[in-house]
Amino acid sequence: MVKRRKARVIKIGSVRIGGDNPVAIQSMAKYKTSDTSPVIRQIRELESCGCEIVRLAVKDDSDAAAIKKIKTAVRLPIVADIHFDWQLAMAAIKNGADKIRLNPGNIYKKEQVSEVARAAKANHIPIRVGLNSGSLPKEISSKRGGTVERMVQGALNYIKILEKARFSDIVVSLKASNIIDTVAAYEKIAGLCDYPLHLGLTATGLPEAGAIKSSIAIGSLLLKGIGDTVRISLTDKPEQEVKVAKEILASLNLRDFGVQVISCPTCGRCEVGLVDIVRKLEAQLSAISYQPSAKPVKIAVMGCMVNGPGEAKEADIGIAFGRKEGMFFRKGRAIKKIPFKDCAGILLKELGRIHVQGN
Ligand code: SF4
Repeated sequence: MVKRRKARVIKIGSVRIGGDNPVAIQSMAKYKTSDTSPVIRQIRELESCGCEIVRLAVKDDSDAAAIKKIKTAVRLPIVADIHFDWQLAMAAIKNGADKIRLNPGNIYKKEQVSEVARAAKANHIPIRVGLNSGSLPKEISSKRGGTVERMVQGALNYIKILEKARFSDIVVSLKASNIIDTVAAYEKIAGLCDYPLHLGLTATGLPEAGAIKSSIAIGSLLLKGIGDTVRISLTDKPEQEVKVAKEILASLNLRDFGVQVISCPTCGRCEVGLVDIVRKLEAQLSAISYQPSAKPVKIAVMGCMVNGPGEAKEADIGIAFGRKEGMFFRKGRAIKKIPFKDCAGILLKELGRIHVQGN
């Protein structure tokens, strides 16, 4: 069981992070914010696949103004992502943003930061100090020390400005361009303040590489109890980012998302196209929406009847496939053989039965 760092609790719309609250999943809409129709559609899709907080890029006045309309059409909390222009932060707050992300590398004048902090405080919304190693504040980037020290110092200096303005609804992120610096920076800041931490790794690449890099960086921090909200950055649809975030959190037993499918890697004993079978089952399962209160269920899909049930003992239910039929099993115990074509149907039916009992 992971022992989590005790961060102070911060509210982002209806979502609380820090303390014992679950590690929240966030993503970003990938259309221009002022293009409200696709943005609203994407936020709704993100909500239905398990995203809990959405960030929107606010590049100009039309984006800041669009927040008002978007807020009337969606339920997820909206974070306004602001760079360069502090006035955009003011406009985003006025239009109902639930949280502001400021980049200390390009919004750093004390009076301006303090002004944003006062407006955020008056509207009861938090600010994320979102530092990137590629855009460190000027006074820090010329200082001695490695990237990690400079990032941490940059964040602490910015936190000081906010605290001086009597603002403490702060979330911090420190994203370096590589895994080792990112992990080290988060570890360091985790011991120096009690603000909740937003975990992320920038520019990770296409989903295959991005999921691996994110799992290593974010997974290793979460294992140490560090992290209160995560955003997986992928060069892909945002739904994919949510899917990877859910896999990481479920694998560490930090969250339950209803159903988890496990499957064997197959070997010479396997006589069926297991990859296609698992993909089809995953698609059928993702089309079902689960109540957050639903009992978590682990389903195993295994490539042979001889070893399958035993190798997947920890699964609640599963099918081990022979050439023409499947063996349905519960907790590793063989129950009955069923014709190939009925296997997916039996699993879904059993799943429904478990959920009815569990709720
Ligand atoms: S369950 Fe069977 S097919 Fe799958 S890896 Fe194990 S032995 Fe091979």
